Amino acid sequence: MNIRFYHEVLEFIYPQYCKTCERKLNSAEIRYCRNCFNQLVPTDLGNWIKKTTTGEHLDFAYSAFWYDEILQDCIHNGKYNGCKRLLRIISEMALSELEDAPEIMRVDLLLPVPLHKVRYRERGFNQAEIIARTVGERFNLPVKTNLIHRSEWTTSQTKLDIAGRRRNTEQAFKVTGICEGKRLLLIDDVLTSGATSNSCAKKLKERGAATVGIFTVATPDFGLK
Ligand SMILES: [Zn+2]
Repeated sequence: MNIRFYHEVLEFIYPQYCKTCERKLNSAEIRYCRNCFNQLVPTDLGNWIKKTTTGEHLDFAYSAFWYDEILQDCIHNGKYNGCKRLLRIISEMALSELEDAPEIMRVDLLLPVPLHKVRYRERGFNQAEIIARTVGERFNLPVKTNLIHRSEWTTSQTKLDIAGRRRNTEQAFKVTGICEGKRLLLIDDVLTSGATSNSCAKKLKERGAATVGIFTVATPDFGLK
């Protein structure tokens, strides 16, 4: 049975409805209708590196949307229920934030922020890699997944002070490939304080990276609006 036909049969038996407006979804839509996806709010922050709380090793930062309920649900479903198609849909929508970013023209490699290998084994994929592949296809840039690794379990951060948390995050990453003179773009789903990507950037620069930026699909509102 061809896969399209299979989907059509499934749709007939179990019609799917938009989680927000309850409209019946067509075969190209998943969880939300196109109309509700179009309600996602762009941050319009442009390069917001100066507003991140921890970002001194990063050269630039772009985040496409505010991290609202729809995006939280999509990213959660993408990560924990393995719904890669959902991750691809939101990644494609997020691309517009990079279209006008002058820095994207000067990037050599895309680096998904790595997951620890135990987490990777549990999940079967890294959500950041799916986003990076979408960016790579659009801007014709290679995605490298073996340059930086998450080498240690980041132990529970709750009992640590700020300096301790920083050390803890920094120790978690290890660069195992060559990045001398390269202009790199880290990619992740959500950027909160910037501590994780900043630690990656620090390690990459210690190994000679020329510039390191970060692009994420979403960022929560820290009074930036
Ligand atoms: Zn809807």
